[in-house]
Amino acid sequence: MTKALPQRWDMDVIFPGGSESEEFRAFLGTLEGDIANLKARLEQSGAGLHETAAFKEVVTHVQSIAVRVRQAGAFISCLTAQNVKDEPAKLLGGRVKSISAAFGAVLTRWEEKLLAVDGDAWEDLLADEALQPLAFVLNERRRRAQEKLSPEQEVLANDLAVDGYHAWQDLYNAVVGRMTIEVEVNGETKQLSVGQASNLMSSPDRAVRAHVFEKWNEAWGKEAELCAQALNHLGGFRLALYRHRGWDSVLREPLDIGRMQEKTLDAMWQAIDNRKDRLVAYLERKAKLLGVDKLSWYDVGAPVGNVHKEVSYDEAAALIVEHFNRFNPSMAEFAQKAFDEGWIEAEDRPGKRPGGFCTSFPVSKQSRVFMTYAGSASNVSTLAHELGHAYHQQVMWDLPALNQNYAMNVAETASTFAEMILADAAVKNAANDDEKLVLLEDKLQSIVAFFMNIHARFIFEKNFYEKRKEGLVSAADLDRIMEEAQKQAYNGALADYEPHFWASKLHFYITSYPFYNFPYTFGYLFSMSVYARALEEGESFAPKYDALLQDTGRLMVEDLAKKHLGEDMTTVEFWQKAVDLAVADIDEFLRLTEEA
Ligand SMILES: [Zn+2]
Repeated sequence: MTKALPQRWDMDVIFPGGSESEEFRAFLGTLEGDIANLKARLEQSGAGLHETAAFKEVVTHVQSIAVRVRQAGAFISCLTAQNVKDEPAKLLGGRVKSISAAFGAVLTRWEEKLLAVDGDAWEDLLADEALQPLAFVLNERRRRAQEKLSPEQEVLANDLAVDGYHAWQDLYNAVVGRMTIEVEVNGETKQLSVGQASNLMSSPDRAVRAHVFEKWNEAWGKEAELCAQALNHLGGFRLALYRHRGWDSVLREPLDIGRMQEKTLDAMWQAIDNRKDRLVAYLERKAKLLGVDKLSWYDVGAPVGNVHKEVSYDEAAALIVEHFNRFNPSMAEFAQKAFDEGWIEAEDRPGKRPGGFCTSFPVSKQSRVFMTYAGSASNVSTLAHELGHAYHQQVMWDLPALNQNYAMNVAETASTFAEMILADAAVKNAANDDEKLVLLEDKLQSIVAFFMNIHARFIFEKNFYEKRKEGLVSAADLDRIMEEAQKQAYNGALADYEPHFWASKLHFYITSYPFYNFPYTFGYLFSMSVYARALEEGESFAPKYDALLQDTGRLMVEDLAKKHLGEDMTTVEFWQKAVDLAVADIDEFLRLTEEA
């Protein structure tokens, strides 16, 4: 028998001693000193950094600090996730937060210097051999600084935002954290947290789902006034800042973060709208399978079968390596290394943070995956997903630090790609039609989420801002705007909707990222396009795949698709191919459930 794989990660190779690590404390001390030195260096340099040598020296410092700030943040994430009661880790987390803030302020100073270099001198700088590879990110940084207010005003706005903008998100989190939802399950009264209640909404028992949904709506109705305040004020802050900067579209910031054009976004939604009738056909069939005329909001996530297959951790690892290998041998090799060398924290034990993530240590050039593995099919898919993220990072290690930052819309490319490989293999290898149906249904539920649920969030957010420009929006109006958005996005296919969804969905309250919705759908469909290409081209696609991932931090998404897929992302045709591939599963689902 071969030795079982480790299920706890090895953090000691990063910094020995966990939250007591002396080495980590020394690392932070040096980092703090270097940030202070860079700050002083920038203050000394007067009006500009026109000399190529001086400019390059500062760029080198910025990159060296950036990787270490990331390294420190990743270490804290891992410590606090593996043991939520690690108090010293929390204290260290506070110190790392201050370090990040200090570095952020230095970066604003640096941007001021970039602005001070005039056009011709700027071109000369970028022509330098060492700076050329950074041209995209340097130009972007300079342009973004140009489009904002003066550095003094931006610094002031940032400082005020801590208690005047981001605080609304904190308030919202506090409201959700203290909420309980009282439900009766099996004759027993229970006080559930929001997360627990949400899990019960996918119960196989319709009466349970209906009951929990009713109580859920009641609970959010009670908090609607507070949530409406939070949403109105954080939205108002955003609009006021945009107005001062002279920005007229609310999509400008999220599109710029995602390095994409509005045309691209419009084309994507159009391609989805073109196939909404297919999704409606699926929802209608599902209603029939559940024995109802029309699905309720709370039926969409209901399971259609109950095939439970447990997969041991070692089996999951073997499965992942085997299927990765069919697409890209270096992905398989990488995953094997991650399993063997303790890059994954998978153990099912109390005291861990819920959920899963992947984080990276740029100084060590290693990643770590966090999750709690309990043997379900969705655990296998999470494991593949997070390893996809880790692989993405792996192919980027040799790039300059400034070229390693990619936005949320492309961040999910490699992870979704990895998930698709596993999901398709599972459907193909299903033992019988019942098992196949459950697996297909799982995929279709995510398609409904990406094409309908997230579409509704996008429509809502756009309409909310239009209304907010005219003044405060009441909770009742928010309900109405939400329900209209849901009806539109679901093509009226459901019997009822969730009007309080604007309150119950945390994503509307994330201040650092407006429109925290369409990047999900974008990422899924872009990944689908890449996957389709991989299926077409077979193993010869592997090096092209790696090259595409390497460019995710230094190209506009339209250029990324043009360069690596030879496709025009601003057209509906590009997106239609991906959408059609996704909805192809619906045909199979309808065929398997024909006699229902
Ligand atoms: Zn992910």
